[in-house]
Amino acid sequence: MGGGALVTFAAVDVIRAKRDGQVLSDAQIDWVVDAYTQGVVADEQMAALAMAILLRGMTPGEISRWTAAMIASGERMDLGGVGRPTADKHSTGGVGDKITLPLTPLVAACGAAVPQLSGRGLGHTGGTLDKLESIPGWRASLTGAEFRDQLRDVGAVICAAGADLAPADRKLYALRDVTGTVESIPLIASSIMSKKIAEGTGALVLDVKVGSGAFMKDAVTAGELARTMVDLGTAAGVRTVALLTDMSTPLGLAVGNAVEVAESVEVLAGGGPADVVELTLALAREMLDAAGLTDADPAEVLASGAAMDSWRSMIRAQGGDPSAPLPEARETEVVRAAADGVVRSIDAYGVGVAAWRLGAGRARKEDPVSFGAGVVLRVKPGATVRAGDPLCELRTDEPDRFASARDLVAGAIVVDDGAPPVPSWLLIDRIA
Ligand code: URA
Repeated sequence: MGGGALVTFAAVDVIRAKRDGQVLSDAQIDWVVDAYTQGVVADEQMAALAMAILLRGMTPGEISRWTAAMIASGERMDLGGVGRPTADKHSTGGVGDKITLPLTPLVAACGAAVPQLSGRGLGHTGGTLDKLESIPGWRASLTGAEFRDQLRDVGAVICAAGADLAPADRKLYALRDVTGTVESIPLIASSIMSKKIAEGTGALVLDVKVGSGAFMKDAVTAGELARTMVDLGTAAGVRTVALLTDMSTPLGLAVGNAVEVAESVEVLAGGGPADVVELTLALAREMLDAAGLTDADPAEVLASGAAMDSWRSMIRAQGGDPSAPLPEARETEVVRAAADGVVRSIDAYGVGVAAWRLGAGRARKEDPVSFGAGVVLRVKPGATVRAGDPLCELRTDEPDRFASARDLVAGAIVVDDGAPPVPSWLLIDRIA
């Protein structure tokens, strides 16, 4: 759409229309998204419109047109030449959510090509690129040709999205982040789906997180987001399925960057925490099914070592050394149980913020992350502990960060002397 739309509007009229609860026309949507991308609509005008959308909502028709306009703001990739069915996964983000790392090479080893364009962490949720950058030599940026070649030759790519992919979303997401307008289902759904549709994947599995560590705190809102995204993908010809999964407690034991890479490698080696393995296999089955590859059994492929081979090839293809030691934090502190009891719950949000405070995450987009920092749990909910037993390990390069992280995990890990907690289901719902 970069050449300029035929119909033009006054931005203030579009803002007023949405403020007053009207349905925006296709022409208004096309114009405002294009004009914002070109700098004709100012940040303050788009911020006002985003707030009006957050408060007033959008009809399915408006969401669909808004998504199409965001796709049209940039390049739409064609992955037809990679020679195998493509399948991607998107997670709405959570604490200890390292699933992309074992899942991408596993699904590639089962015969699909996985074009995984990923992001960096902001706030208490980690970013896949930050985690992988803890591997010595690994680089996140690929040219379009490198991306396609690696997808064809290795089948697995995890890299940063290029500047040409939905540039309207890049600009709008940064604006929403600082104007309190992230938490809008139409804006989240169009943001995620514009990038996934523009990327050119044939199949897409959405992992929509529910719980304290997720954007969506309850299953009803998460289900609404999932339904909106599935409908957008399906209408665009992408075979799309969503799983609603629990994010009330961290996934696995490791929360941080290098520590999550290490845990992912354990999964690829046939071990690792049961919940990480379960979710990796569930998502792999959905991706393969959506891609029409029903012969391979991901559990068998994982056990065979083929996914580990695929991981090593993927890391090497992006300059990384899969055998190099991972960075370690300079300081470690163990947090211990104050009394005998049962671990009732481990709050994902509290542990995520603790890892962030220890240096694993960033407060502003331009901040660096500490690769070795994070929290490594030694227990999961339901474990029986004695006074003095380790509950978790805090890791940081800067010991003055221990104090606030210690308070956060003390509040997040609840130990009491009641009956063991009822186990929560990791897989909550499936929306197709
Ligand atoms: N992730 C995105 O890419 N966009 C959003 O709006 C929220 C999460």
